[in-house]
Amino acid sequence: MIEKDVVIIGAGSTGLAIAYYLSKHGVRDVTVLEKGYVGSGSTGRCGTGIRAQFADEPTIRMMKRSEENWKKLGEEIGFDFRQTGYLYLLYTEEEIEQYRKMKELQNSLGVPTEILSPAEAEELCNLIDTSEVKAASYNPEDGKAHPFEVTTGFKKYFQEGEVELKEQREVTGIELENGGKCKIVKTTGENYRTEVLVNAAGGWARNVGEMMGLEIPVTPYRHQAIITEPFKPGSIEPMIISMKHEDAYLTQTERGGIIGGAGTPEDEPPTYEMRETLSFEERASKVFSTIIPGLRHARILRHWAGYYAMSPDGNPMLGEYKIPGHYLAAGFSGHGYMMAPSVGEGLAKVIKGGRTDLPIDYYDPDRIDRGELREEAVQMG
Ligand SMILES: Cc1cc2nc3c(=O)[nH]c(=O)nc-3n(C[C@H](O)[C@H](O)[C@H](O)COP(=O)(O)OP(=O)(O)OC[C@H]3O[C@@H](n4cnc5c(N)ncnc54)[C@H](O)[C@@H]3O)c2cc1C
Repeated sequence: MIEKDVVIIGAGSTGLAIAYYLSKHGVRDVTVLEKGYVGSGSTGRCGTGIRAQFADEPTIRMMKRSEENWKKLGEEIGFDFRQTGYLYLLYTEEEIEQYRKMKELQNSLGVPTEILSPAEAEELCNLIDTSEVKAASYNPEDGKAHPFEVTTGFKKYFQEGEVELKEQREVTGIELENGGKCKIVKTTGENYRTEVLVNAAGGWARNVGEMMGLEIPVTPYRHQAIITEPFKPGSIEPMIISMKHEDAYLTQTERGGIIGGAGTPEDEPPTYEMRETLSFEERASKVFSTIIPGLRHARILRHWAGYYAMSPDGNPMLGEYKIPGHYLAAGFSGHGYMMAPSVGEGLAKVIKGGRTDLPIDYYDPDRIDRGELREEAVQMG
């Protein structure tokens, strides 16, 4: 049995960021257990997007801090956080009104979002069909970072530091001793004893909860994305979003491929199924080439599926949950990757028993039992 100060289950963006900030706060004895490899859950399947354009104050504050942290992390760990902006295309007066209100709130919290004319939007990407676009919402500080670079960057950083990362280590059972104060974490390899256990298992957070007799209300919904053959780099710099076209989002990676996705049909039930569907390729091809007609003949190179881990109100569940020393960090829906650096910073402070200026309390997991559902955050991209 190996004694540890902290055991984290899940090496996605959430678990990795919590481990990183714990080590920054001087917690030396941290182990991250991952059943596959770093980023093999939703993180490695995400659309690369990072933004602070949200509609509610706590999420904007979390994302603003995340963007600041993404920048520092990129410099320290060695990946590119490319701040090429998010460009929401707006097609109706109602949408413009809604995004104008969001812009006011974002500006009041230090996020420099602007409402652009169609011509200004075209200056940012001249491939967009702006014939029906009435305006666009743009924050130049939003951007993208490739999850493969980020997760392997963390892995390398941990190899040189004090955090222990164990891949191919599935947690298969958890026994509670001393009224839950002590947790015995059983894996496909060695077993651990710890007082602090972090459940950062993404779409599988519920299964980890069941090992402790808890019912964690996080449910996996399949989302799919594609990447095309490479085009001239710099062709589509911002993340382009159109809620009108099936909540589509797309941008270009550093290597030139166009990466993007779209919303899942509302009638698709929750599932652990990760197979791709041909119908998604048809939908994505149609909406992408409507937004950017030049993509009509682009070839899809890769297509994959992952989960949005959904809580009952679509917001994360963050904090100590039901058992002393059991911290939950799950339920991030479509924005867990971008939020990871502020979640990591804030939760590491909470775990250490300190205070944080981040609104971690807003995401108190017990709110669900209390029936205090939060406003759903803007989902796409
Ligand atoms: C198609 C798609 C596009 C997306 N685009 C974006 C985007 O542009 N921006 C954004 O912010 N978010 C995006 N998301 C959402 C984002 O991917 C997630 O919110 C985020 O990656 C969640 O990270 P996580 O670390 O909490 O979970 P995960 O990355 O799923 O990590 C959980 C890890 O826990 C491990 N695990 C589970 N059970 C066990 C166990 N018993 N033992 C050991 N390990 C275990 C899993 O293997 C997994 O690696 C997208 C998601 C999808 C599917």
